[in-house]
Amino acid sequence: MKKEKILGVNVSVTSYEELKNNVEKDILNHQKSFIVAINPEKILKARKDEKLKELLNKATYQIPDGVGIIYASKIKKGQIKSRITGIDCMDMLCNLANEKGYKVFLYGAREETIKEAKVKLEEKYPKINIVGYINGYEKDNEKIIKEINKSQADIVFVALGSPKQENWINDYKDKMSATIFQGVGGSFDVISGNIKRAPLWMQKAGLEWLYRLIKEPKRIFRQLKLVKFLFLILFSKKEI
Ligand code: UDP
Repeated sequence: MKKEKILGVNVSVTSYEELKNNVEKDILNHQKSFIVAINPEKILKARKDEKLKELLNKATYQIPDGVGIIYASKIKKGQIKSRITGIDCMDMLCNLANEKGYKVFLYGAREETIKEAKVKLEEKYPKINIVGYINGYEKDNEKIIKEINKSQADIVFVALGSPKQENWINDYKDKMSATIFQGVGGSFDVISGNIKRAPLWMQKAGLEWLYRLIKEPKRIFRQLKLVKFLFLILFSKKEI
C-alpha cells in the first residue's frame, strides 16, 4: 500500500474499500497487522519522540484520521483525499466480523464503558462474536495476554489513549495469536454513548473538531495544535 510522509510520519494512501480488502486478506493469511490512526496531534507528538515516530512508521496501516491530514496532503500536493477515522475503521472491522464470523476482543476504557460498548456493538451487529473484554485499568499484562489468547480472538481493539495503546500493541502483539490490532482511542466512550459524535452533516463537512470544541471547551488547547501543525506543514520544505 502506498504511503506518504507527513512531517516524517507515514500515512497510508488508501480508501475504505481498499483497506477493508487488505485487512480481510491479512486475516485469511494470518498476517499480523497493526492499524494506527494518524492525526495532527500524533504527528506533533512523534516529532518530539523519535521512538514513537519509528513505532508509528512500522505499523501496517496508518489511516488518515482527521481533516488536518487531508489539508496537509493537499498542501504538499499529495494524494490523500479522504479521511478514514479510527472509529470508521473500527466500524468497518466490526462489519467484517459480523459478516464473516471473526472473533472480536475489546481491551481498554473504564469497566462501565466497555460493558456498555459491548452491549451497543451487539445491538448494532447482531451476529458479532465478542469473545471477551478487559478494562484499560487492569495492570497485569500477562493476565491480559493470556485472556486474549484464550479467547482465540482474530481482531483486538485497544482503547488506552495515545501513545499508550500504540506502545502496548507494539510490545505485545507478537505474544498474541490474534491477527488484527487497532488502537481506537476514545472510541469505546463514543460507542457506549458516554461521548456523542457530531451530527452527520458536521462529520461530512469536516467540522467534527468544532462540535467537540463546543462540547468540551477545554479541548481548545489540543485543537490549537492543529494550527501549529498546519503552520509547520506550510513552512516545511520537504515535499511528500
Ligand atoms: N484509558 C485506559 N487506560 C489508561 C488510560 C486511558 O483505558 O490507562 C482509556 C480512557 O478511559 C478512555 C481512552 O483510554 O476511554 C482514552 O481516550 P482519549 O479520547 O483520551 O484517546 P485519544 O484522544 O488519545 O484518542
